[in-house]
Amino acid sequence: MKTLVFATNNPHKAREVELILGPGYSIKTLPDIGCTEEIEETENTLEGNALLKARYVKEKFGYDCFSEDTGLEVEALDGAPGVHTARFAGPARSADDNNRLLLQKLEGKPNRKAQFRTVIALLRGEEEMLLEGICPGKIAEQKSGNGGFGYDPVFIPDGYEDTFAILGDEIKSKISHRAVATQKLIACLIGR
Ligand code: IMP
Repeated sequence: MKTLVFATNNPHKAREVELILGPGYSIKTLPDIGCTEEIEETENTLEGNALLKARYVKEKFGYDCFSEDTGLEVEALDGAPGVHTARFAGPARSADDNNRLLLQKLEGKPNRKAQFRTVIALLRGEEEMLLEGICPGKIAEQKSGNGGFGYDPVFIPDGYEDTFAILGDEIKSKISHRAVATQKLIACLIGR
């Protein structure tokens, strides 16, 4: 089994990536390598923030690793919240507040098209790689479902009628932004 360091504190992301990677890989997250500090996301792109987190871990802890940053890009909001997705409704990063604000901003707007975009930064030896995964969909009229995390209760992926929070881990791990980016990560790791 191959062990990978995933520069994240988010247990939901770690679980999803583990599910996508399958039984051949085991993941160590930031607490597992003794990194207890919060890595500030100070860049203004997903690519920049993904690289920043991975470089921090490589420089400070010496591990080859990967990290990811994800944003929700809503067409009627000119691509917002984008890189500000986590703090859309304020510094508390509350999923409930974020979802409420999003539904409020889209009230009465017929165009509800949106996409999740994940960027993975992989640092291996001297090499730095960026891998992107996009999941197109739309924002629901209201919240539904108890699964997933973050904006999952308001995001309906293309080809489905239900939100990620209803569809659940098994479907999400096949079609999500994170799944697409992680499949590219696997391809890099096995040299495809
Ligand atoms: P970050 O990548 O940790 O900065 O996350 C950005 C924001 O997007 C946070 O509010 C997360 O909760 C949310 N988020 C990230 N990935 C997902 C996802 O797969 N589904 C729903 N929300 C997500």
